[in-house]
This record gives sequence, structure tokens and C-alpha cells, in this order.
Amino acid sequence: MVDGPGFRTSIYSAGCSHNCPGCHNRQSWDFNQGRQMTTDEIMAVILADPFANVTFSGGDPMYQAEGFTELAYAIHERSNKTIWCFTGFTFEALLAQPAQRKLLEQIDVLVDGPFIEKLKNPDLLYRGSSNQRLIDVKKSLKQGKVVLYHDPMSLAS
Ligand code: SF4
Repeated sequence: MVDGPGFRTSIYSAGCSHNCPGCHNRQSWDFNQGRQMTTDEIMAVILADPFANVTFSGGDPMYQAEGFTELAYAIHERSNKTIWCFTGFTFEALLAQPAQRKLLEQIDVLVDGPFIEKLKNPDLLYRGSSNQRLIDVKKSLKQGKVVLYHDPMSLAS
């Protein structure tokens, strides 16, 4: 429930090179941690809960953009679940990279940017520091500029 609105199945990718000081999840930095799973194995976990939507987190899923794109295609083919994605890259930086842009096109909401300790704010919804944005990816791609996501169930932003 902290990885986006409602109940969600979170897929944690191993590996992150952003080295954000104050990162709450340093154990996820190691690219050799965790275990390899096929798309079908992950889909079995995701489909086991008919009510939960999906979040890609980590580590940083954008380091494994091809694999997560394949997973996102499978999610859209086999369900109507929404996909949120957390990344330490900015939306603008991802747009410039073909593989990461392809993954972006499959995502509903992107929580972007590194965690910056001096901008830490525990009151923020779904993110740790105020530089990080909740981005409505579909609207942003359509309008060619960043459009922020607003949770219809919350008065906070
Ligand atoms: S991007 Fe996230 S997981 Fe990676 S170092 Fe920064 S806070 Fe930690």
C-alpha cells in the first residue's frame, strides 16, 4: 500500500547505481542479489491476486528495461491492472533512451528522480523527497510535457 494507491503486487528488481545518500533500501543496490525469474513466473504471482494492481520497484527497474517491458506487455495482455514504476532517473532522461522509453510507454504512473536527503519530507505521498514527481505517463507522452498525477482518493499531493 506504500508503493501506490490500493493493494498492489510489487516487483523488486535487483540493482541500483544511483547511490542516493540516505537510501532506505541499500540492500537493493547489488545487481547480483535476488534470483532470476521468467516473465511467466512473475505473471503467476501477479495474476494470483485478482484485486491488486502492479508496481515495479527496486533497485531501479529501468536498468532492466527490456525485461520489464516484456512483463508490462504480458500484464496488459492478460489483465486490466495498472502499472506504477519507481526510478531514480528523471522522466526526461528516460525519454532520451529508446529501451527505457519503450518501457515508459507501458506505465501508468512514474515516480521519478533520485532520493535527495535534504529534500526529504515524510508527508509526501508515495515518495521520499520533494524533487521526486508522480507523473501521469500517458498524459505526459501525449502532451509532450510532464503532467503530474493526482490521486483522486487523496487530498495530499
Ligand atoms: S534510486 Fe532509490 S534504490 Fe536507488 S539509491 Fe536512490 S533511493 Fe536507493
